[in-house]
Amino acid sequence: MGKVLIIGAGGVGTVVVHKVAQNPEVFTEIMLASRTKSKCDVIAKDIKSRYGIEVKTAQVDADVVPELVALFKDYQPELVINVALPYQDLTIMDACLEAGVNYMDTANYEPKDEAHFEYSWQWAYREKFEKAGLTAILGCGFDPGVTSIFTAYAAKHHFDEIHYLDIVDCNAGDHHKAFATNFNPEINIREVSQRGKYWENGQWVETEPHEIHKPLNYPEIGPKESYVIYHEELESLVKNFPTIKRARFWMTFGQEYLTHLRVIQNIGMARIDEVEYNGQKIVPIQFLKAVLPNPGELGENYTGWTSIGCRIKGIKDGQEKTYYIYNNCSHEAAFKETGTQGVSYTTGVPAMIGALMFMKGLWRKAGVYNVEEFNPDPFMEQLNIHGLPWVEVHNADLEL
Ligand code: NDP
Repeated sequence: MGKVLIIGAGGVGTVVVHKVAQNPEVFTEIMLASRTKSKCDVIAKDIKSRYGIEVKTAQVDADVVPELVALFKDYQPELVINVALPYQDLTIMDACLEAGVNYMDTANYEPKDEAHFEYSWQWAYREKFEKAGLTAILGCGFDPGVTSIFTAYAAKHHFDEIHYLDIVDCNAGDHHKAFATNFNPEINIREVSQRGKYWENGQWVETEPHEIHKPLNYPEIGPKESYVIYHEELESLVKNFPTIKRARFWMTFGQEYLTHLRVIQNIGMARIDEVEYNGQKIVPIQFLKAVLPNPGELGENYTGWTSIGCRIKGIKDGQEKTYYIYNNCSHEAAFKETGTQGVSYTTGVPAMIGALMFMKGLWRKAGVYNVEEFNPDPFMEQLNIHGLPWVEVHNADLEL
């Protein structure tokens, strides 16, 4: 059906290439481009040996629009899947507009010099994509992504009005390292160390980092201490589902992880500004990334499960009801299939399914859209087929 270009050869990029290669009837040609071409070549070689599928590779600096435009014009993909870093979202969108290519990503734009993310920068491209007749699909990983689609599915089939939404993200896996992050360490540490924020009665309520927490029970896993943090899908969900009175995002952290995080912050290693070192300028958090385990290579000894879902309370046919929808994903199964751990897997699979929705013409409309603005049904069907089956519980005790 079409050519796809994937940008970013990290943990998530690896999974996207695997899943795309598993669906050759939809993705007729594949290219993987990234800053370091040798990483693309290693992935391409593995794909060739596993599935016999050819993946072209290329070097590109996605911070540089003319480099991207030259690559897009040369390869002429139908769709670019951006799984580089959130810093590159706007340059890749600019290049898509210039070269006439459709766009998809898994994380919203974040400036390098400010630990702050919001959709306004990307939503500002809506009119340009509309005028160009191009589709941009924002946030098609697991969270954002599947959690947003779970919410859209609940709103479509199980509620007349959603009132309370709690997104619950548990990683009960063990990578057997003292400290490691499950996706890009720089982005991860910036995300989890910021102030907490949730939506209540029409406004944002701010908290100290990790101020609100309680143990929540996760299916097949049991109780895990869960912390309210700000997460990007809350911004678009409260806008697209205006009946929501309160929306929060909970993530589990182990004590070891939080202790390491506190030390990293206290000693200045989470700083994102430049410091002088031996006559050279370095950014401490970027240096830290260089010495931490590579998230894409954590998979080998990773055991246990992730469990991510939405706990929803609202009204159906005049009656109050509760609903819990979730997926549990095994780190070991993810590694066996793709050589990566569960967090890369749960992000890369939805990215491939979003691309499949686009290629089949099911999610194709000119403009810039968050995933919950499309029909959730065909996407939900594909989750069950491609490795992320979901479970629904009606009238469950949500503990919240
Ligand atoms: P990694 O750090 O493992 O990989 C990022 C890749 O992008 C690397 O290959 C890197 O190249 C490449 N890259 C970075 N800068 C550039 C550039 N200027 N030009 C070209 N390539 C570049 O990250 P992950 O795979 O863990 O995460 C990828 C994305 O997925 C991130 O945006 C992250 O926020 C998002 N994510 C989304 C989730 C969701 O559920 N929605 C969950 C987890 C992650 P190099 O190898 O040279 O460093």
